[in-house]
Amino acid sequence: MAIKPYAEVIVDVKAKKVDKVFHYRVPQKLLGRVTEGMRVIVPFGRRTVEGYILGFCDTPETAGREIKEITDIIDEEPLLNHDLLTVARWMVDRYMCSMVDAIHAMMPAGFRKVRPRFIQTIDLDVRGEELNDLIAALSVKAPKQAAVLKTVLAGGAFTGAELARLSGTTPSTVRELIKKGLLVTRQTAVRRDPYALRSFPETEPLNPTSEQKKALRKITGALDRGKHETFLLHGVTGSGKTEVYLQAIAHCLAKGRQAIVLVPEISLTPQMVERFKGRFGSLVAVLHSRLSTGERYDEWQQIKAGRVKVVVGARSAVFAPFADPGLIIIDEEHETSYKQEDNPKYHAREVAVARARLSGSAVILGSATPSLESYSRAVAGRYTLLNLNCRVSGRSLPVVNIVDLREEMHAGHRGIFSRLLLEQTQGVLERGEQAILFLNRRGYSTFVVCRECGLVMRCPKCSITLTLHAGDNVLRCHYCDFRRQAPDICPKCGSQSIRHFGVGTQKVEEEAAKRFPGAGVARMDTDTTTKKGSHEKILNRFKEGRVDILVGTQMIAKGLDFPGVTMVGVIAADTALNLPDFRSGERTFQLLTQVAGRAGRGDSPGEVVVQTYNPEHYSILNAQNHDYRAFYFEEMKMREALEYPPYCSLVRIVIYGTEENSVIRGAEILAEILRQSAAEHSLGVSQALLGPAPAPVSRLRNKHRWQICMKGKPGQLVRRLVREAVEKARDSTMFVNLGISTDVDPLNLM
Ligand code: ADP
Ligand code: ZN
Ligand code: ZN
Repeated sequence: MAIKPYAEVIVDVKAKKVDKVFHYRVPQKLLGRVTEGMRVIVPFGRRTVEGYILGFCDTPETAGREIKEITDIIDEEPLLNHDLLTVARWMVDRYMCSMVDAIHAMMPAGFRKVRPRFIQTIDLDVRGEELNDLIAALSVKAPKQAAVLKTVLAGGAFTGAELARLSGTTPSTVRELIKKGLLVTRQTAVRRDPYALRSFPETEPLNPTSEQKKALRKITGALDRGKHETFLLHGVTGSGKTEVYLQAIAHCLAKGRQAIVLVPEISLTPQMVERFKGRFGSLVAVLHSRLSTGERYDEWQQIKAGRVKVVVGARSAVFAPFADPGLIIIDEEHETSYKQEDNPKYHAREVAVARARLSGSAVILGSATPSLESYSRAVAGRYTLLNLNCRVSGRSLPVVNIVDLREEMHAGHRGIFSRLLLEQTQGVLERGEQAILFLNRRGYSTFVVCRECGLVMRCPKCSITLTLHAGDNVLRCHYCDFRRQAPDICPKCGSQSIRHFGVGTQKVEEEAAKRFPGAGVARMDTDTTTKKGSHEKILNRFKEGRVDILVGTQMIAKGLDFPGVTMVGVIAADTALNLPDFRSGERTFQLLTQVAGRAGRGDSPGEVVVQTYNPEHYSILNAQNHDYRAFYFEEMKMREALEYPPYCSLVRIVIYGTEENSVIRGAEILAEILRQSAAEHSLGVSQALLGPAPAPVSRLRNKHRWQICMKGKPGQLVRRLVREAVEKARDSTMFVNLGISTDVDPLNLM
């Protein structure tokens, strides 16, 4: 408890100047009640604002100002514990964000607006001997009233209606007892449990395979030692990584500690949740963005109160307010959804390791296609590599066939489906099995162009092409969701030669239905899963065999375990390969391996058909051979030659504003500052500065954007130089109307 008289407070105000600690006196009435991590109300300038206590001190820094007092505390309990506050400080340094941004990232979304929900429950007012006598007496005179009392005695907080139903009486009997003063009403906080109505079949630990056993031995060893260690669990698809997680968690819980499991948002499917709830039942809380604000808040409170021991959640669950997490698991650790694209632009994998270091916890990073960042750390010995090379019970990995689309075209086949894909799908349908058709692009066509004048329909606010969505015949921007009706006549030259190019999932679905008339076809992408529960519905129909062909985006690439699927078709492997991003080869390898991994998980072997215009690309060939290591070494050679991460560190700086000329001017000024400081330091790369150049998306929501990338090693030095340069630039008058955003180790260079 606070004995020191002054509190160090960070105020919840968004402005660069107030991103520092202010000192406040702790008033007499709050002495002994305030602790670090608590939310408080403080006077700030002429306002009162919310703030967070970061610590305490004996002598305040006055800087010539009068020291004010904390007005009040908001919660009786601190919201963040000591470790999480330390992690927040680490984030400020690592991601160049403000402390308030870091703290907000740790809170459940909308937590300020949420109030706990109470229901009125009924309880006894008398107990013990007296109650027994009462029940005995009533059994004769008023058996219904006796029945109600017995039900309450048997336990639980019931509402009046529940009580009447359970005791086989009526609400009026309950009311009668309340009137007599034998029963009283109370307010009970309830957990808005999104899974309350679902039951999960209990599962027992499986007998681990020898590979699983070996991996588990290493992990439980670390858990027994209670020292931090990061494991990279590299296991092919279907090798039973989840079972390793489950048994590792059991070991962690037995030590009296808690466990956090992160899964990518899109694979937070009912199937995944079922596996954890099935093993650990009500000890599991689930956190993801589809929960209502109230549900999320309640789950968060359950975690904080220690009433649950395991959290399964998306990215932000890494901040789950457990007192003593012994194990943090990141499934599909290569997934880009672990990186937050808004401030603070943190990566959950890095935060997990930073947090685990403080709490002496084990981290398991699991993947069939580890990120180059993680695998290179394992190669360097910083992470412990664990391998699962075989699929469970000896099933083989699917055979991957590559179709050269150029040859198809020469042979006169211009359809979406190559001959081999048609043939394979037909075979699957004849055998009564199931197929998945994958395309990493939703909508109907990719872009709409006038063949007369070449006009391509673009978003007026962002510089990207609009995508046609059939049905309502609307063109949509996939960045800002701008919409307009698709034109029949070119808005520029008036010709009627409007053509649609490329394919999206919607088109594939339509084509599949046309080609295979008797088959059940369904589509799963962000367009078909906006409604709550729609995701689950589509998967259930697939599981029950009412759908034969499932068409989808990366949403179906991961985590699905459907034994009936024997064929996976990749419509266009090149969509990821052609992105203007140095990770495009890695993305392609990952995507193909993950999608292929959905095939042949049951008793029948799987086949994969990959359609591509680049059949000789090493990403595609190594995915065909299921050879991660060959891919890794080839890709690392390229990264080293071109000086890209993980060979070095990269910070991306975007300068944006409404006036293009001042954006360009600002970018040049900032680049010059960076160039000078790069020249004064040894950054271990031949060219530390890239740009300034227009960002690949050079206009976004009406703002012009230019970017600079700074590369080098060690990362710490690169970050320091960028931080100093940005601070210097922000002080100059040139930047009053310009914004600067920085992204440390960005995953998205668009
Ligand atoms: P991954 O996550 O590595 O792709 P999963 O964890 O989904 O693999 O496991 C694939 C399948 O194998 C699942 O149906 C799982 O229940 C089963 N399985 C895992 N471990 C074992 C085991 N030791 N014995 C039998 N079946 C197992
Ligand atoms: Zn035209
Ligand atoms: Zn747009």
